[in-house]
Amino acid sequence: MSKTILFGGLTPLHELFMKGAVESLGYKVEFLPTPDNCSLAIGREFCNRGMCNPTYYTVGNLIRYLQEKSATGIDVEKEYMFVTIGACGPCRFGMYESEYRHALKAAGFKNFSFSILNQSKFSSEGELKLTPSLVWRLVKAVWVADIVRDLGYQLRPYEVIPNSVDKAISRSKEEIYQILKRGGKVKDLISALKVFRKRLEGLQFDYTRVKPVVSVIGEFWAHTTEGDGNYHLHRWLESEGAEVRVESIAGWIDYQLFIEEEKIKADIKIKGLTADRIKKLLAVKGMAVTFRTLYNILRKIFDFRPKPLPSQRYLAKIAKPYFDYFVVGGEGHLEVAKHIYNVKEKKAHMTVSVKPFGCMPSTQSDGAQVKVLSDYPESIFISIETSGDGEVNVKSRVQMKLFEAKKAAQEEFEKLLSSLKIPENTFKEAFSLREPFIKLSKNYIGTAARALKANSEKVESWKLRGLEGWKSGLPVYRKM
Ligand code: SF4
Repeated sequence: MSKTILFGGLTPLHELFMKGAVESLGYKVEFLPTPDNCSLAIGREFCNRGMCNPTYYTVGNLIRYLQEKSATGIDVEKEYMFVTIGACGPCRFGMYESEYRHALKAAGFKNFSFSILNQSKFSSEGELKLTPSLVWRLVKAVWVADIVRDLGYQLRPYEVIPNSVDKAISRSKEEIYQILKRGGKVKDLISALKVFRKRLEGLQFDYTRVKPVVSVIGEFWAHTTEGDGNYHLHRWLESEGAEVRVESIAGWIDYQLFIEEEKIKADIKIKGLTADRIKKLLAVKGMAVTFRTLYNILRKIFDFRPKPLPSQRYLAKIAKPYFDYFVVGGEGHLEVAKHIYNVKEKKAHMTVSVKPFGCMPSTQSDGAQVKVLSDYPESIFISIETSGDGEVNVKSRVQMKLFEAKKAAQEEFEKLLSSLKIPENTFKEAFSLREPFIKLSKNYIGTAARALKANSEKVESWKLRGLEGWKSGLPVYRKM
C-alpha cells in the first residue's frame, strides 16, 4: 500500500506502540495528535447535529489534520487513508462510519479513503486487512502500553524527584517502539520491560504519602483520552493529590471476547448444538485464556503490580441485578460493574464515571448507578458529563468528592497505623525512600496503608539495614 495510514483516539503511548506494530508489516503509519477543543469545534462544523461528543472530537481531529496537511500543498486524498474501529451499534458508534464519510465530504475530502476494523466481527473493510499477524502484533502493543501506562499512574504520585517516572517511561517507550517496529518478538519485549523495571528501581519513592485511589471509568473514549475530551482528568486528579486507577485497553478486548462467548452460548441454547458452534466456542474460549495468560506473563516482570484483568464473569455477575450483560453498546454493563467492583473488592476510595455529552449507554448506566449507590452507601461516586465547556463546574464537583476520598484514605491509614502500634516517625523513616516494587497488601485500598500492612513486621530491621544506605548515597538494593 502506498498511502500512509492515519489513526488515533487512544493514549499517546498506545498510539506509538500500535504504530510500531503496523509499521512492522511494511505499512507507512502516522497517528493523529490527541483531539482538543479545536478538533471539537471543527467536528461540530462538519458533522450532523445530535451526535455524541467523541464523534465530534475524533472526526474533527481528522479533518483538522487533513486541512493542515493540505495547506502545505500535500494531496491528502492521494497520500493518506484513515483507519478506525467500527461496529453496528447499537449506540451512535454504529454511525461513525457514515459520519466520517459525511463530514469528510462536507470538508472537501470526498474521495478520502478509510478502513473500518469491525470490533464485533473481528474483520476489516477497506485497504488495510485485519490478518492474524496484524492482530497479534497489535495485541502485544496494547499489552505493553497498558502495563507501562498503568505503572506510570501507580508510581508517579510517590516519586521523590518530580518527573523521574515520566523520564524513565520516555526512555523505555522509544526502545519498545523500535522492537515493535521490528516485529515485536515476545522475548525482546520482555527484555525491554526488564530494562524498564531496572530504570524504575533506580528511582526513589516515598510511600508515606497518604493518597486516595481514584478510579476513572465511564464511556470508553472519554475515560481513555488524555486531553480536552475529559479535561485532562487523569493528570489533573494526580495534581490534586490522587493516585489514579486507569482502565486498560486489554480489559476492553477481554470484554469483547466475553460477550462473543456468551453470544455463542446463547445461540447454542436457543438454536441447538452444532459442530460449527462448538468450534467457535472453543476458539473464543481458547483466545480468552491465552490472552489473559500472556498478559499475566508480562505483569510478572513487575511482581504483578500492573492491575490484573478482572474476571469478566465476575463483573457480569455483580452487575446483573442492575444491568444485563446482553445490553451492549458503549461499555454495556461495565460502568455499573466497575463501580461495584471498586467498592466490593476495595479497589478505589472513589470512582469517577465520565460520560461524554450525548452518550446514550452512559446515560442508561447513570440511571442504574442511582440504585447501586443506594445499595452501596459507602461508595464515593461521581458521574460527570464532558461537553468541551463546563470544565470549571465539572472540576469543582470532582474536588468536592475528592475531599471525601482524601478523608477516607487518611482514616483507613490512621486506623491501621494505630492498630499496628508503629510510631508515626518510624513509619516515616522506613517508608519515605523506597524502591518502587515494595510488597503491597491486598486488603487495603491506599498505597501507604498497603505498604505498611505488608511490611509492618519488617519495619525495624528494614530501617536498620536500608535507611543509612540512602542517606549516604550508596546504591543499596533493599528488596525485602
Ligand atoms: S458509547 Fe456513547 S459516546 Fe461512545 S459512541 Fe456510543 S453513544 Fe457515542
